[in-house]
Amino acid sequence: MAPANPPAHALYPGSFDVVTLGHLDVIRRAARIFARVTVAVAHNPAKIYALFTVEERLAMLRASVKKWRNVDVASFSGLTVNVASQVGATVILRGLRAVSDFEYELQMAMMNDNLAPDVTTVFMAPSPQYSFLSSSSVKEIARLGGDISDFVTPAVARELIARIRAESVNESC
Ligand code: ADP
Repeated sequence: MAPANPPAHALYPGSFDVVTLGHLDVIRRAARIFARVTVAVAHNPAKIYALFTVEERLAMLRASVKKWRNVDVASFSGLTVNVASQVGATVILRGLRAVSDFEYELQMAMMNDNLAPDVTTVFMAPSPQYSFLSSSSVKEIARLGGDISDFVTPAVARELIARIRAESVNESC
């Protein structure tokens, strides 16, 4: 017989192009609540303008989450609910920043519930200082030469600045 409260395994899917302190805040909280957290980088053909390859994003995530022993990192393509059942996750974790996230996230959660009623979507709010933070805004600030040290880890900041410099060198050639 299954235990009454099996320890939950949560899947945290997303683009993570790049991983921000907002994502890490969600992961830190999740690592305290769930027995296991799998952060899953989507191979998303709709987002063809990613700055980093999936492998690069995985490497940055792995380095960022290594301090949490119950957090692992993977990549996936296809339906999130299928990946959840493949890895044995009963929870899909999503971050909610502002009302603007809500409509899209709720729609996804309803669709996923329809596809896989045994998998529950859990929304998590970050600390207020990260509630405005998105990967795209960090990339935009970095491109314009702004200070991104409050938004990403020092290692991610180095990778991001180097990539943007390389991009602008290529563009000027
Ligand atoms: P996606 O393309 O799936 O939205 P993202 O990498 O942008 O991928 O985000 C992955 C998840 O993390 C989403 O649930 C998103 O709402 C959440 N998220 C992104 N930034 C933050 C943040 N600053 N605070 C909390 N959650 C966030």
